[in-house]
Amino acid sequence: MKFFKSSKNTEQERLESGLEQTRKGLFGKLGRLFKGKRKIDDDILDQIEEALVTSDVGINTTLEIIKRIQKRAAHDLYTSSEELQRLIHQEIRELLEQNQIDRPADFLTPLPQSPYVIMIVGVNGVGKTTTIGKLAWRYSEAGHSVLIGASDTFRAAAIEQLEVWANRAGAEIIKQKHGADPAAVAYDTVQSAMSRSSDVVIIDTAGRLHTKTGLMDELSKIKRVMGRQLTGAPHEVLLVLDATIGQNAVRQAQEFTRSVDVTGLIVTKLDGSAKGGIIIGISNEFKIPVKYIGIGEGIDDLQIFDRQRFVEALSVI
Ligand code: GDP
Ligand code: MG
Repeated sequence: MKFFKSSKNTEQERLESGLEQTRKGLFGKLGRLFKGKRKIDDDILDQIEEALVTSDVGINTTLEIIKRIQKRAAHDLYTSSEELQRLIHQEIRELLEQNQIDRPADFLTPLPQSPYVIMIVGVNGVGKTTTIGKLAWRYSEAGHSVLIGASDTFRAAAIEQLEVWANRAGAEIIKQKHGADPAAVAYDTVQSAMSRSSDVVIIDTAGRLHTKTGLMDELSKIKRVMGRQLTGAPHEVLLVLDATIGQNAVRQAQEFTRSVDVTGLIVTKLDGSAKGGIIIGISNEFKIPVKYIGIGEGIDDLQIFDRQRFVEALSVI
C-alpha cells in the first residue's frame, strides 16, 4: 500500500490507469461487438445493452443510452467499427453533460466560509476514513488548516486509523474515547475549529449501528448539533460509495439520501474494479452530484469528478 504522493504522472494519466479495468471491461466488450459492423441493428443494440448493464451502468441509464443510439442510427450510416465506437462515447458524454451539475470548486478556490464543515457518511468499509485523509491532504496542500472530528466512536480502531491519516495529511484531530457520543465529538470539533480559526472541518462518522434507523438517527443528531453551534453547518454532507459493490452502491445511495440531506457523492475504489460504469448511472439518475472519486489507496488518489475527463479516460483505446 502506498500512502504518500509518489507518482509523477498527470492527473489525467492517473485517472486513465485507475480506470483501466473499467475501460477494458465496458469498452473492450463494445469494441469486440463492433468488429466488422457498419450498421446498428437490433442484434447489436441488444448486445450493447447487455454490455452496459453488466458493467453496472444501471438499467434506466442503459435504456436512455440505447434510445439515443437508436435515434442516431435511424438516419446515420457508419463506415467503420471505430466510428460506431466513437458514437457510443459521444452519446454517453452528451447524456452526462445534459445533466451536468456544477463541478465542485478546486481546492485552491477560497472557501465560501470558515470554518467550512464537511460531514462524511456511508456504510462501513466503503472508504470514508481513507477519503477523509485524502480530502484533508488536498485542503492542507492548498494552504487551508484542517481539523478532523473522530465521530466514528463505534469501533476503537476507527479512531486510531483516522489519527494516522490526519498525521499523514498534516491535519489536526479532535477525538474522545471509544464509545463516546458521536454528536459530542462533532460539537467539540466545531467548537475547537471556531476558537482556533480552522478553515476546514471534516467529520468522520460510523457506518453501522445495531439498526439502520439507529444509524440514520445518529447522523441526524450529529448534523443538528453542529447546526445549532454554527449556522449552516454542516455545509456539505458527502456520501461515500464503493464502486466495487455495483448496484448495492445504488441502493445505499437511495437509502442514505432518503434519510440524510446528502449534498454530494464520492465514489471510491474505481481502480482495480471493472465496475466504474456505475458512475455513469449514478450521476445520471441521482440529482446529487458526484463530487470526488477515489482511484487508489494513496493520499493523492482522490480527484474532483469531471464528467468530460472521465469519459475521455474511459475512451482511450
Ligand atoms: P470506512 O470503513 O468507510 O472508513 O473505510 P476505510 O477508509 O477504512 O477503507 C476501507 C478499505 O478500502 C481500506 O483498505 C482502504 O485502503 C480501501 N480504499 C479506500 N478508498 C480506496 C480507493 O479509492 N481505492 C482502493 N483501491 N482502495 C480504497
Ligand atoms: Mg472508518
